[in-house]
Amino acid sequence: APEATPEAVDAYLADTLVGEDEALRAGKRAAAAAGLPAIEVSPGQGKLLMMLAKLAGARRILEIGTLGGYSTTWLARALPPDGELVTCEFEPRHAEVARANLDAAGVGSLVTIRPGPALDTLAALRAERAAPFDAAPFDLAFIDADKENNANYVRAALELVRPGGLIVLDNVVRRGTVLRPGDPDTVEGRDANGTRAALELLGSDPRVEATAVQTTGAKGWDGFALAIVRG
Ligand code: SAM
Repeated sequence: APEATPEAVDAYLADTLVGEDEALRAGKRAAAAAGLPAIEVSPGQGKLLMMLAKLAGARRILEIGTLGGYSTTWLARALPPDGELVTCEFEPRHAEVARANLDAAGVGSLVTIRPGPALDTLAALRAERAAPFDAAPFDLAFIDADKENNANYVRAALELVRPGGLIVLDNVVRRGTVLRPGDPDTVEGRDANGTRAALELLGSDPRVEATAVQTTGAKGWDGFALAIVRG
């Protein structure tokens, strides 16, 4: 048996119960071949997202941060045939790889990739969808893009996710860097500050109930926050 480390246990759990299939693996290989960074969620986290979407009865999912479409594929698999997933990505190369991966995985018809900065897309979605109706259009939002904007993304998700719906915010621990205000002159510092602001918002806004779970394993010491929009 391999040495007992968080990484080895993650691999054991993934092999034993997650069931990442060839379509998901092929998508990661294509992303690597195209030079995309391997910063997608782990297999176990991807499956968790799919299961949360199923529990939420999700018909419409919003994702912020597509990369090569790995988490997108897991999430789309929770949707019914008439479901919809809108995912925001500002790197054209990433969007292109994701498009091909999603189509190859058989979920392409469910997914719209919105190019451009996510903040612009979120404003457009609010104008297109939320405003004329009284109801927020999405059942679940998965936030996983530039961490600097995390509080802005949470604010937008609060407008776009229906009461009873779920907001998932990834990478809220980042090897503990979230514990202290970061140096605004560095990316890591701005990421920490954006994440702290998002967590403080989730912890104080009466429109949600929220928690966070620390994780370890394939992706190092990190964690995710979960928030249910109150009815
Ligand atoms: N959710 C993906 C997964 O688990 O498979 C990983 C997403 S990766 C961590 C973050 C992605 O967000 C990158 O592809 C990056 O190009 C994109 N991104 C970063 N800042 C963005 C912005 N302001 N608007 C839109 N996309 C952005």
